[in-house]
Parts: sequence; structure tokens; C-alpha cells
Amino acid sequence: MIQTIGVIGAGQMGSGIAQVCALHGFDVTLLDVRPEALEKAVAGIDGHLARQASKGKIEAADKDAALSRIKTGTDYRIFDASDLVIEAATENEDIKRDIFKQLVPHLKAGAMVATNTSSISITRLAATTDRPERFIGMHFMNPVPVMQLVEIIRGIATSEDTYQSVRDLAHKLGKTSAVSEDFPAFIVNRILLPMINEAIYTLYEGVGSVEAIDTAMKLGANHPMGPLELADFIGLDTCLSIMNVLYDGLADSKYRPCPLLVKYVEAGWLGRKVGRGFYDYSKDTPVPTR
Ligand code: NAD
Repeated sequence: MIQTIGVIGAGQMGSGIAQVCALHGFDVTLLDVRPEALEKAVAGIDGHLARQASKGKIEAADKDAALSRIKTGTDYRIFDASDLVIEAATENEDIKRDIFKQLVPHLKAGAMVATNTSSISITRLAATTDRPERFIGMHFMNPVPVMQLVEIIRGIATSEDTYQSVRDLAHKLGKTSAVSEDFPAFIVNRILLPMINEAIYTLYEGVGSVEAIDTAMKLGANHPMGPLELADFIGLDTCLSIMNVLYDGLADSKYRPCPLLVKYVEAGWLGRKVGRGFYDYSKDTPVPTR
């Protein structure tokens, strides 16, 4: 049975996963290499839960109880008691491999490991651990507290037990699951990212401005967010990593990342999380940059 959940990476996704798990009664330990990311995550969770309490969606006591269930740290010893550890660090295969190498010596015998990767092969990541049968893809959507879906991806060695446990956990967290086979970027991002990349090509080729492209897709295709706004929300580094995984993994030129996306990432314009991407977020209302 899962009671204690470890989370690695305290960025947008890791903090959201920690929040939802704690709110649903699980004990959570959250690790990041950057102590300031941990502080920001706890402050963000506190603020988010306070807003939920003020809207009457949860009780004030639920907020305090959830916060008291979250422990943070930078040492892998915090995972000694975890039944499941969910990895949600930067979308980079070398970083994730290094994380699993450090994590494995601290895991209990029966502990499971999940990765929130948006695109990287579950089978390949599982093979870097001592327990590929207890390793699985558990792909939450952003923002985690709001989005309904968890995509579940079995690696070639993932056991039925692990799959059932993680699917049951997703349902206990109030989510709906959809199963994807282990192919580059799975289902959601296999479809979503080429559309975002095409929107960036549309900007790059001068077919439309940032505002025109986002307005066109919001009002013309009934999307709640325009594709460039969405790219900023996901993080342009994450978008580029996913496109590269699609391009390399499927060996098809239709997945070639747009050079403008590459340039933005090289400039450090990673989107909303750093205050600038296709929009400038330094003012109250985001301002298109092109
Ligand atoms: P983010 O940039 O907000 O956060 C990443 C965090 O990982 C940072 O706090 C960073 O300090 C930490 N980190 C980096 N190296 C580390 C290491 N070696 N050990 C521990 N922590 C480390 O990124 P994010 O948007 O939260 O994405 C995290 C993961 O979730 C990625 O795999 C991404 O593909 C996936 N994901 C992202 C989205 C999205 O919309 N952003 C949606 C679903 C899944």
C-alpha cells in the first residue's frame, strides 16, 4: 500500500504533485538540488491552498494538515521510507539518469519509482534502476491541482502490480487515467507539441504575430489558451526537449524543432517561469514580444 510518496524536483510539476498528494492524505517528501526551489515550492503550495480555502473548496484545517505532511530536503535519505518516488526534475535524460543512480541505494525493497517525464522512454529510464518491474511513467498535466488527466505509461518490464498500484493512486488523487504505450512523447505530447512547434514556425515565417496566432487558435479552434501562451506556460526548455525526443526517437523531419524555439531557449527566455518567452510577464498583463 502506498502511504509515503517522495517527489524529486520542486518546480512547477513537482510542487503541484506534492500539493495534490499531501491534500489527499499522503505523507510527502520533496527534494530539489536548489534549496531556493524548495522554499518557493512550499510558499507556492501554501498560497494555492490558502486560495482554495478562501473559496470554500477545502477547509482551513485541510490546508494546515496538508502542509504539515510535506517535508523537504536536498539529501536522498529523505526517501528511505517512501513507498513510491515520483521523479519530476528537468526534462533531460542525463539529469534523470543521474537522479535514479543516486536514488536507488535509498529505496526500500518493495518501493516503486515513477517518472513524470513528458517524452523520454520509460523502458530506457527503467533500465538505469535496479527495479524495472517496479518502474512506470506517471505523467501529470500542468497545473497538477487543476488538470484531470494522468497518463500512465508502462515500460516493457513494468509489472501488472505496479501498474494497478499507480493507477489506483491516480484515482485516489481524484484524477482520471489514460494508458499510453511507451513511444516518444506518449499520447498527449505526441499530438500537442507538434502543434505548438508549428505555431512557432508560423511566427518564425511571419505568417502572424504572437497575438494573431494565439487569438486565431483561441477563437478559431476554441482552444482555452493560444499555442504560444501554452508554450510559455509549459516552459520553452521543456517544449524543445520534447521536440528533440520526437525528432530523434521517430527519425522523421516533421518533428524538427523550430529554430526560433531553439533561439529562445538559448537566450534563456524559457517562458512564464522566468518572466519572458513569447510574452513578457513583467507587467500585470502579459505583453507579446513579437
Ligand atoms: P521546472 O523547470 O519548473 O522544474 C524542474 C525542477 O527540477 C527545478 O526546480 C530544478 O531545480 C530541479 N532539478 C534539476 N536538476 C535536478 C536534480 N539533479 N535533482 C533534483 N532536482 C533537480 O520543470 P517542470 O515544468 O516542473 O517539469 C518537470 C518534469 O515534468 C519534466 O520531466 C517535464 O517534462 C515534466 N512535465 C512538465 C509539464 C509542463 O507543462 N511543464 C507537464 C507535464 C510533465
